[in-house]
Amino acid sequence: MSNNRKTRRRNIELHCKPKKSYPNQMAAMNAGVRTGLNWYRCPYCRQWHLTKRNT
Ligand SMILES: [Zn+2]
Repeated sequence: MSNNRKTRRRNIELHCKPKKSYPNQMAAMNAGVRTGLNWYRCPYCRQWHLTKRNT
């Protein structure tokens, strides 16, 4: 695909912009522990976001 870069930008717009991003796992972990959320490494922006626990 020739527009991979564009698609990635778009994913970041949709997926990442509405969320808070953390530059490293430590920051995400601290925030996650505080708020009771899970943290995960984002494949689009390579930063960390928080997500609800689904158990
Ligand atoms: Zn992201």
